[in-house]
Amino acid sequence: MMATPTFSIIAPIWNEIETLPELYRRVSEVMDQTGDPWELILIDDGSTDGSTDQIRAMAEEDARIRPVIFARNFGHQIAVTAGLDYSRGQAVVIIDADLQDPPEVILELIAKWREGYEVVYAVRAQREGESWFKLFTAKLFYRIINRLTDIDIPLDTGDFRLMDRAVVNVMNGMREHHRFLRGMSAWVGFKQTGVEYARAARFAGETHYPFRKMLKLALTAITGFSFFPLQLATYLGFIAAGLSIISIPIVGILRLSRMAALLGQASTLIAVLFLGGVQLIFLGILGEYIGRLYDEARGRPLYITRQTPEDFE
Ligand code: UDP
Ligand code: MG
Repeated sequence: MMATPTFSIIAPIWNEIETLPELYRRVSEVMDQTGDPWELILIDDGSTDGSTDQIRAMAEEDARIRPVIFARNFGHQIAVTAGLDYSRGQAVVIIDADLQDPPEVILELIAKWREGYEVVYAVRAQREGESWFKLFTAKLFYRIINRLTDIDIPLDTGDFRLMDRAVVNVMNGMREHHRFLRGMSAWVGFKQTGVEYARAARFAGETHYPFRKMLKLALTAITGFSFFPLQLATYLGFIAAGLSIISIPIVGILRLSRMAALLGQASTLIAVLFLGGVQLIFLGILGEYIGRLYDEARGRPLYITRQTPEDFE
């Protein structure tokens, strides 16, 4: 076994067979420049395109590659979580496997870490090769999260970041099932700073984050860091109750003065449908929180591994 590395690089892999050799080449080129020992943790998140065997073969070639092979697809955030669990470095870097996060930026992250920062997140100053829809929804996503939650997540940052061992240890103790890692790493505090970079286009293949998954992540972010959606029911309830109290004397006066306004069943029907709809929406919001509570209460493992780094030593 080799000495514990100074740096851990974590890359989640879901069907990235075309990119894997290039990822390895660029990460090792960059990390060798640091002159310190490093490890590359590749988490296979249930790939079906042969990435799994490719990772195994790479680990045979280079002992610095430490694979975590999942039993099925658990999702990007969980894959990164497993990487954090198995990392041993004094500084840990999370990077996308598709080379949208240029490995060369890691050197800048490390420079800030050496200055004493404990979380160094990479800020996307430019983005290439992404649709306007992705850019727009991503912008909206960060604005809404910052509005609704108690934590300040720096605008336009993803999970590409460096974290000190002290931060990783705290994060590894937070075993929530619905994970929003960039929120968690902002929530822990410590000394944080950002480094700007230009986000590249994907090296190969298509995004694995369609709108549906972005929406799910946004819900996780909001429910994980805010009770505002729940409190909204209280506010709206007070407003509706206030309006009805005001309207009772108004309707009385209208009737007594024999005016034809607000007569008939149409207005009743609209009011009933509106309130029924609002109530169902809030039942749904309650459901989102209760479902998450249920996941925590069951206490299932966050992920299931087929192989861990020890199996390759
Ligand atoms: N990924 C993963 N599990 C998933 C989806 C994605 O491990 O269920 C990985 C993927 O291989 C990539 C990273 O997460 O390394 C980011 O995914 P992607 O590039 O598809 O997202 P985008 O950059 O478009 O937001
Ligand atoms: Mg990508």
